[in-house]
Amino acid sequence: MKNFYEYNLSDNLNKSLKGLRFNKPTEIQAKTIPIAINKQDILANAETGSGKTAAYLIPLIHQISTIGKVSGLILTPTRELAQQVSDVAKLLVGYKSNIDIALIVGGASMNNQLNQLKKRPKIIIGTPGRINDHLEKKSLNLNYFNFFVLDEADRMLDMGFEDQVERIINFLPLKRQTLLFSATLPKEIIKLSSKYLHNPHRADVKENNVIKSQIKQKVINTKTELKYDQLVDEITDRNGSILIFVRTKYSTEKLKKRLIKDTVKSSALHGDLRQNKRNRILEDFRKEKFRILIATDIASRGLDVPHIEHVINYDLPQVPEDFIHRIGRTARAGSIGEAVSFITPNDSKMWESIEKLLEKLKNPHKNNEYDNNNNNNSRPYSKKKNRTKSKSRKYLRSRAY
Ligand code: AMP
Repeated sequence: MKNFYEYNLSDNLNKSLKGLRFNKPTEIQAKTIPIAINKQDILANAETGSGKTAAYLIPLIHQISTIGKVSGLILTPTRELAQQVSDVAKLLVGYKSNIDIALIVGGASMNNQLNQLKKRPKIIIGTPGRINDHLEKKSLNLNYFNFFVLDEADRMLDMGFEDQVERIINFLPLKRQTLLFSATLPKEIIKLSSKYLHNPHRADVKENNVIKSQIKQKVINTKTELKYDQLVDEITDRNGSILIFVRTKYSTEKLKKRLIKDTVKSSALHGDLRQNKRNRILEDFRKEKFRILIATDIASRGLDVPHIEHVINYDLPQVPEDFIHRIGRTARAGSIGEAVSFITPNDSKMWESIEKLLEKLKNPHKNNEYDNNNNNNSRPYSKKKNRTKSKSRKYLRSRAY
């Protein structure tokens, strides 16, 4: 694989990459950076953990530094991911840089964001809801944002952001470069891509990092009424940080209260918490102030907390793909991790789908049975097949994040 120096990046970028100890590009970076520097649109099939953040930030920062009239808008599905992308962007531009970066996410101070936007930042990283708020207030002008990244596009649709994303795209100039990153490529994403990308270059990462990495899997076949006591046993038997996934926002709080009552220090993370509380909880978890975090699937993607040693699927996710994202929170950067999954009789169908997906990812070339049988109708936003269920799907989604 190439070395970053071969891309003739700006000096600042080379310096930052050295500081970050990014020596060689990852597979997705090697497949996207030269193409994006050439100003081509890209449809990338890559997930968190592949190095995708730098895959789009490096060409963006390079173009800003060398061409000048380039500004980038990066849309992410969650506030936490936007924060993480903003942190990486700041590291890559370097602390001496005059490239302003604005973070525009819900739950944060509007005044602070208005001040950030008045500086006409070169890079805006945000979530769809708050970006639309600013567009409506006319405090944000996207006319000159000619580099657009849609990050975790499949998740974006899962979370019901399709209309919001399309509204934002309509504010962007037609003459722009668009990069779409998605962990999966169901037909909704292909449709979105053909509508908004111009003759995109396809960049696929064949190997799945999660499957490749050293994650030990443990399955506990159980009954709902036994799960809690077994969870306490698992927690007691393990050292190090544990991320526990449950299905709904309500269950995160319920489980936290129960654990605290049993003197197990833990915290809950879900979409109903105020943003500064969400940030504080994550910050404390990163600093290892407590070792057990209970979360909804809001934490299943994007979070890069290197010391998570165990992921416990107390409840299974609603879609099989989220299982891969969840367990990918452990064994970061080549370390060893363990995933524990509780399976009750009610979970047997979902578990079967998860096993099929795992099998497919382990043998990507062997068969495409999973794609044919599951993929297209397993996602909550698959409009055609689930038209009659759309209301309850929406309700499920609103409880889940
Ligand atoms: P991402 O998929 O963007 O969340 O990146 C996953 C992890 O890979 C992060 O911890 C990055 O800091 C790290 N990373 C990204 N690119 C490189 C690289 N070229 N060399 C080493 N580590 C990297």
